[in-house]
Amino acid sequence: MKISLLEDIRDEITQLLSELIKIDTTNPPGNETSAAKFLAEYLENEGLKCEVVESAPGRGSVITRIKGQGNGSSLLLLSHLDVVPANPKEWSVPPFSGLVKDGFVWGRGSLDCKSLVAIEAIVMKLLKKEGFIPKGDVIFAATADEEKGGKYGVGWLVKNHPEKIRADYVINEGGGFSIPVDGKQIFTVQTAEKGVIWLKIKAKGRPGHGSIPGAADNAVLRMAKVAEILGSYRSKVRVVPAVKQMIKGLARERGIMWRAFSKLLINPKLADSVLDRIAKDEPATAEFLRAMLRNTIAPTIIRGGVKENIIPSECEAVFDCRILPGETKDSLLEEVKNVLSNEGVDLEKLEFEFIQADEPSESPIETPLYEVLREVIRSFEPNADVVPFMMTGGTDSRFLRRLGCVCYGFAPMRTNMPLSEFLRMAHGIDERISIDNLVFGASVLYETVKGFMQ
Ligand SMILES: [Zn+2]
Repeated sequence: MKISLLEDIRDEITQLLSELIKIDTTNPPGNETSAAKFLAEYLENEGLKCEVVESAPGRGSVITRIKGQGNGSSLLLLSHLDVVPANPKEWSVPPFSGLVKDGFVWGRGSLDCKSLVAIEAIVMKLLKKEGFIPKGDVIFAATADEEKGGKYGVGWLVKNHPEKIRADYVINEGGGFSIPVDGKQIFTVQTAEKGVIWLKIKAKGRPGHGSIPGAADNAVLRMAKVAEILGSYRSKVRVVPAVKQMIKGLARERGIMWRAFSKLLINPKLADSVLDRIAKDEPATAEFLRAMLRNTIAPTIIRGGVKENIIPSECEAVFDCRILPGETKDSLLEEVKNVLSNEGVDLEKLEFEFIQADEPSESPIETPLYEVLREVIRSFEPNADVVPFMMTGGTDSRFLRRLGCVCYGFAPMRTNMPLSEFLRMAHGIDERISIDNLVFGASVLYETVKGFMQ
């Protein structure tokens, strides 16, 4: 069966996204309530009763639902309203103008994540308009604060009003873009994400006068060594199920790069040499893949010293660590300590503290929804397929996975530029989405909800 695109929504969804981008929800401070109210009005025009809930003044999320018959799984269409900052000087168009140009909608949030907000809102509207009664409830939530950790958005909702958003299944951001392989489009479904651990290490020493360095024990030097060791350390390769399935799926399509890469399934020790070769043509993709295969540790802040002529007795640094599913903050700390002591660092002179610890999360791949996603994608593109995908960053899905919801990152989009360029654009300069992709995304999600919920 060939399913057609929802061409008659083209103007409406373009307009809706453009308006959403014009509402500046840069986080911090967020100010998502204005966008939440704008959406509530849009959805209420079609008779969807909306609720705007605020976790703090100005930090609003909008929620609505289409009540089901009560004899099937419920589904939450999730997205977030806030965006990361944009520096207009770096952009070739004003980032909050919502400009429509050359078949694209331009602006901060056009990819992350206001396009998904617009797509899911229009799907809700279409379903309501045609009087669709799903088996289970279909819920829509566009929330605050994802970009700063979700404390005022999904994190707050899960803690204070879980009943408003809890569902058996969740479709959220984090995947859905395609990877072109040999002329075929392979669409990603985000089924897992790495954990985010911010580790503070404090190095201790003995103060002294800058004119006689040998008499002191310089904490900055100690920290420089720690940062160098951890920053250049490569943790052991471990291929988690989502990544394994992804590599298998992509290698099936005989893409040369992916076939080479799939060798690591047989021997994980080959991973880095294969990636070094891939890096010659596609450096960004290679590093992205490298980060999917292991825990990573990146020094991001160093503070030490107070005066020009005093040798500092203290220096602290923060390490942004991303851990694979199956790992915990404690296993990470053990790994860090092992690496340092193997390199001769005296652990007695270091203190360790977790600033933030969000453990990794994953959802099962074999589910009825996953199958529907595959069928729907193939009904649009007979050659296409879906593969699981693990994100190296985090999304709000982690809160809901903790509640037991099956969460998939799936904002369907045909990647119409090299993957590395696409991956750079979400928080980058000149963020934009093609109108064709808006229509495509809405069409796929519309068919998905109907296919899964009736
Ligand atoms: Zn996002």
